[in-house]
Amino acid sequence: MGVHRRGDPRGRQEPEVNADPVISGRTKVSAVFGDPVEHSMSPAMHNAAYAALGLDRVYIAYRVTPENLRAALDAIRALGILGVNLTVPHKEAAARMIKDLSAEAKLLRAVNCVINVGGKLRGDNTDARGLERDLRDLGVSLRSSTAIVIGAGGAAASSILTSIRMGAARIVVANRTRSRASKLVRRFASHRVKLTATGLEALTDAAILSIAAIVINATPMGLTTRSFARLAYESTPSGCFFYDTIYRAEPTPFLAPAIALGRRHADGAGMLINQGELAFRLFNRL
Ligand code: NAP
Repeated sequence: MGVHRRGDPRGRQEPEVNADPVISGRTKVSAVFGDPVEHSMSPAMHNAAYAALGLDRVYIAYRVTPENLRAALDAIRALGILGVNLTVPHKEAAARMIKDLSAEAKLLRAVNCVINVGGKLRGDNTDARGLERDLRDLGVSLRSSTAIVIGAGGAAASSILTSIRMGAARIVVANRTRSRASKLVRRFASHRVKLTATGLEALTDAAILSIAAIVINATPMGLTTRSFARLAYESTPSGCFFYDTIYRAEPTPFLAPAIALGRRHADGAGMLINQGELAFRLFNRL
């Protein structure tokens, strides 16, 4: 995960080092809550980082159903858990349950990590920062450009925030349910960017596609479905970047036609790793 041990500029205690990685009475716990959660890559990522840093800590996946979310959040404090990642379907519900939210979690109305700050829960969201770090690593520049975001849920909100932070001048939000796109766009009304909400028909509109610097898939299309919506890939400029927030070993249905056209592209593995590293630092005060 590229986690490096840092000094302690804010006077926090250095984490304990465990040369012999055995779970003991002193081992501290962090976790992910989700339903389903068995497929989560987070335990492998966080436990590999603990092993690499020699920390006496362990990261566990808990299947938490929506009706048990409140009790599970209370357990973070009761059990002294360091911090918890939240995945489907808890991000929005947790944002309504946790009082102390970061500005980003408030804007995105979603929490993807809960930090136990001395017995008090703080909700944060590292998805937008994770995506931004990945896009910058990939050499994507959005300054004064047009971004097309497909979807209107939490990943779309993160993609909009990232596009704004990277200097996009115009963002087109295309969603199956146009009213949801309109609602999402209104949330970002105070930002200096031209936002347009449309249905998925924008994806075959050559006038919109021909000025796109990036097209981001922020829906589960390709994960929960075999195919992707109709999209006129050939109408995009040759330098257009295609980013899929979903990830898998083989090219996703969204990326495959872009790859065939020779367009630059990436799946969401880098976003996942970066949001995970940011959460790891928050949980472990690194
Ligand atoms: P969400 O809040 O449930 O939003 C899903 C969006 O996808 C909605 O706008 C929905 O449209 C649209 N959609 C769903 N099925 C569709 C279909 N068959 N055809 C057309 N549109 C469809 O989900 P989310 O939390 O934003 O997550 C979206 C995706 O992002 C997930 O697949 C997740 O894996 C990915 N993600 C990746 C990372 C990462 O680190 N790489 C982080 C977060 C999320 P309607 O409004 O019309 O229902």
